[in-house]
Amino acid sequence: MDKVFVEEMKTDLMKQKEEIMQSLMSESDDFNAIVKAKQPKDLADIASDDIDRNTLETLSANDVKRLRLIDSALSRIENERYGLCMRCNKKIPSERLKAIPYALMCIECKSTDERQNR
Ligand SMILES: [Zn+2]
Repeated sequence: MDKVFVEEMKTDLMKQKEEIMQSLMSESDDFNAIVKAKQPKDLADIASDDIDRNTLETLSANDVKRLRLIDSALSRIENERYGLCMRCNKKIPSERLKAIPYALMCIECKSTDERQNR
């Protein structure tokens, strides 16, 4: 993967994560408390794992799901696995990553996965 491209995606992911954090904070007092207790320099330092189950249940499921995907994508950047499909290990096309920076699977695997989960 092109380093410059990965950096761009990382910036984008961090920005999206911060936006979700802001929206969750306005949505839930519990979430607010977690964020305040952590006193992070940066909202993006909070991982979705830091949020306890009860709080998670009160949050918008879509936001939480996206947050987890973003966290996974960020950790895959750390491990230099970003841009490779989780399932088949093939490269995910950069157009797909540009559209969905937290895409973890290529289109073929993603559609197989969605069929199986239905
Ligand atoms: Zn795949």
